[in-house]
Amino acid sequence: MNTPRRKFIKKVTAGVAGMSVTSVFPFSHNFTFDQSESGSINPWIELSKEAYLKNAETISKMAKGNQIMAVLKNNAYGLGDVEVAKILDTSPHIHGFAMVKDSRCLSLRKSGVKKPILLMGDFSESLGEELIASNITLSIFSRESVEKILSLSVKTSHTIRVQLYFDTGLGRMGMPHHEPLDWAKELLSMENIEIDGMFSTLTTPEDFAIEQLQRFKELKDELQNLGVVIKNTHIAPSLSMLQLQDSHLDLVRPGILLHGSFPIAAMSESKNYPLQPTFRLRARVIRMEKLRKGDTIGFSRFYELPQDEWIATISIGWADGYNSGAENGAKVLIGDKLFPVVNVNASHCNVCVGTKKLIDVGAVATLIGPDRDEITPEGFAKSINGHNYLQINYKESIPKIVSDDFI
Ligand SMILES: *Cc1c(COP(=O)(O)O)cnc(C)c1O
Repeated sequence: MNTPRRKFIKKVTAGVAGMSVTSVFPFSHNFTFDQSESGSINPWIELSKEAYLKNAETISKMAKGNQIMAVLKNNAYGLGDVEVAKILDTSPHIHGFAMVKDSRCLSLRKSGVKKPILLMGDFSESLGEELIASNITLSIFSRESVEKILSLSVKTSHTIRVQLYFDTGLGRMGMPHHEPLDWAKELLSMENIEIDGMFSTLTTPEDFAIEQLQRFKELKDELQNLGVVIKNTHIAPSLSMLQLQDSHLDLVRPGILLHGSFPIAAMSESKNYPLQPTFRLRARVIRMEKLRKGDTIGFSRFYELPQDEWIATISIGWADGYNSGAENGAKVLIGDKLFPVVNVNASHCNVCVGTKKLIDVGAVATLIGPDRDEITPEGFAKSINGHNYLQINYKESIPKIVSDDFI
């Protein structure tokens, strides 16, 4: 490749498997690979602070100025919960973070995150006191969870902050909405337990979501009659907040929108409220070969060459979280050109480069990113007829490289 080597543009922080190391990394998508300087041939994810902060602002606008309880469960859908939380911790539009695993709440706090962190799930008893000392808000979601938190409250002198999680119809987590609230009185009687909010989760059919909102409101009124002043009510994941204005309450609780994807394709709101994809999924070309007409690629011999063609092998596969459906029409950006994916295996994928050798071994391939419509999360989903949640399941071990903005 003849492109002159670009200068390294920014000093960035790379978090690899929980450790933070400072490194320099080239950000342009048409630079020449120099292994001695950039190190890894393994896949990586680039995150843009600017895109996350802008999205938080836009989401808050969608919710008429409400603050956001940012859901960063499942390692922020594979993009790095610690990395994303550290970015969003500086946003005035973010109230706090909602997580599902106890240990991940602690990871966020240990990394220096200051805003409230809500654990929407259960906790291991052995971590109870550490969670309290780290100022993690716990959830009351069942009778057993009440007992667990009451017994924790006699063991600690710290204030235990809790939010009340109600099941208004999703049937998955939370106190069933029709149960008597005697347990709430018990919580109230404990001096070091502070009720910090209440929440539930809406289902998608609108008529039932309206019924759920009504149930939630009745619960809030009942609690108020018991003397509980409820602040911080929240019920709406991304789709509900877009479809039902009444769901905004005190806070909205999106996950996928934060990363720049709408929950379903081609939503009309995406025109009024443009979000930016916040990440690039990248890997390198590790083999370029001119294969012959009639040769086939992959275990299932999925692609048969119609003519002699250059086939690139990229060091990323479905075990890294790149969707295996990519071979059904997705493209990959290498240099300034898009090439069709013709095979995805566990650790490798192949793209057809064509009759000319347009790229070299070492070139950077952008599999998902903001650079072209075809490779945004939504564009990718469209090209393989999948849904928008499919391309955010990246393996935790993929290094995350955080920069101020994409270049
Ligand atoms: C996952 C989840 C969310 C966020 O969902 P998105 O569709 O990604 O916005 C909100 N609330 C709860 C309880 C969740 O489990």
